[in-house]
Amino acid sequence: MENNTLVQESNKKRTQKAVKIAIAKGDGIGPEIMAATLDILKAAGAKIEPEFIDLGEQVYLSGNTAGINKESWEIIKRNKLILKAPITTPQGKGYKSLNVTLRKSLGLYANVRPVSSFHPFVKTHFPTMDVVIIRENEEDLYAGIEHQQTQDVVQCLKLITRPGCERIVRYAFEYAKAYGRKKVTCMVKDNIMKLTDGLFHQVFKEISLEYPKIKSESQIIDIGSAKLAANPENYDVVVTSNLYGDIISDIAAEIAGSVGLAGSANIGTNVAMFEAIHGSAPDIAGQQIANPSGLINAAVLMLAHIGQLEIADKVKNALLTTIEDGYHTSDIYQPKMSEKKVSTQEFANEVISRLGKTPQNLTKSKLIEGSGSMKTVEYRRKKSKKELVGVDAFIDWTGTDPNEIGDALSKINAYNLKLKMITNRGVKVYPNGLEETYCTDHWRCRFVASNSDIQKTIPSYNPIDHEQIIALLSKLNGKGFDVIKTENLYEFDGKRGFSLGQGE
Ligand code: NAD
Repeated sequence: MENNTLVQESNKKRTQKAVKIAIAKGDGIGPEIMAATLDILKAAGAKIEPEFIDLGEQVYLSGNTAGINKESWEIIKRNKLILKAPITTPQGKGYKSLNVTLRKSLGLYANVRPVSSFHPFVKTHFPTMDVVIIRENEEDLYAGIEHQQTQDVVQCLKLITRPGCERIVRYAFEYAKAYGRKKVTCMVKDNIMKLTDGLFHQVFKEISLEYPKIKSESQIIDIGSAKLAANPENYDVVVTSNLYGDIISDIAAEIAGSVGLAGSANIGTNVAMFEAIHGSAPDIAGQQIANPSGLINAAVLMLAHIGQLEIADKVKNALLTTIEDGYHTSDIYQPKMSEKKVSTQEFANEVISRLGKTPQNLTKSKLIEGSGSMKTVEYRRKKSKKELVGVDAFIDWTGTDPNEIGDALSKINAYNLKLKMITNRGVKVYPNGLEETYCTDHWRCRFVASNSDIQKTIPSYNPIDHEQIIALLSKLNGKGFDVIKTENLYEFDGKRGFSLGQGE
């Protein structure tokens, strides 16, 4: 089922009612850059109705470790749109990151960061760079599932889901379509992580077929980020998972020279939040010297998101013209290039005086020419045949000789469930391991049905049942082995749903 809930049908012909926005003034330079931004939005005729919310430092210091109170939550839930200035997280333990809290509790699954250069007004080696990084925001290693399992080994679970991949990849293609972008590049590491990153890549390949007019390509994240850093002009929209996206979005902003100028959007199914990418800059707070461009750019993203494309273009073009005319705050002021050093509020006034103008050198914003609307597609799970074919029992064992634990485990037989191999840090050490492989106290011991023909490809394993696993665990426990966790091994439609050990 398709619906057009994210961004309303093209607004080109429509007059819109004022949209209520939850506004967080933030900490440090936050109130100054927010005042400047709201002045511009008002002068541009943005059809918005601000409702102010309290979050950040003062709320933290009042004893609320989440940094956000009940009233603010109510306003956010009601308005479903947030324009947020940066906040200060107080030093010390016990304060939860407000950004993570908002992102996770509101289901803001897509982080969108457009990064373009303002050459020659802001220094960069890449004068024509204009990239949008779209990062999955909720899954991957950031699910926050970590465990210490033995004295020497900790683990962090990398969770990638099909609905999560479908949602973010479709968002990237819909974004490209809505804003007239030509290409989407997927970045993964599926040569190593064949199941997790492999799923992301597979979904990308499937969904790209639905958008034949948009070019699609995939790159391995290591070489991809190197190429992005060396030739960002070759990229248009990049879509990737959480950790890679976190890293490459900072690389992109840094090489464009626009960490202080970029805005970002966090998009969910029902709620969206817009903010500058920089922090609260307490070192310059209260001096009226902060550059409000990051928050203005965030507001432009917000206007586009709620369908006010014409006003978004108007604000963006006035911002670009102001920068082009040389009215610069001190962070980007260059005596030879700039016309005048201006304060935060003076900068806003210069932008206001240019509303309706378009830049001559910098690339003009023309969001209005895109389709403007984006569709979402409900996830439908396809039914597949799932078969239990074995179990990996992870054992905490402080011995050093793999043959010792291997020989002991080989004697265990739980209704035909027998040891197949042991790996240590993913490398096969039994049977026939190499003496050189370094072993920790964390042993992955794979048990499969003894009558499985492991040489055959599909299906390679014979089915087992849970009773066999329970019997195995009981026997291992009886022999004094400390099983720290188990992972069941499954085949889905006859396809192996687990990785092989290196050397298996
Ligand atoms: P920062 O981005 O606040 O500052 C880094 C440097 O950039 C400083 O020298 C600052 O003066 C300068 N700078 C930043 N924004 C500027 C602007 N708009 N105009 C001119 N100069 C600007 O990073 P930080 O110092 O690491 O962090 C300060 C506080 O901000 C911390 O409490 C941090 O937790 C918080 N923070 C909040 C967010 C957020 O709310 N989204 C993001 C990052 C950091």
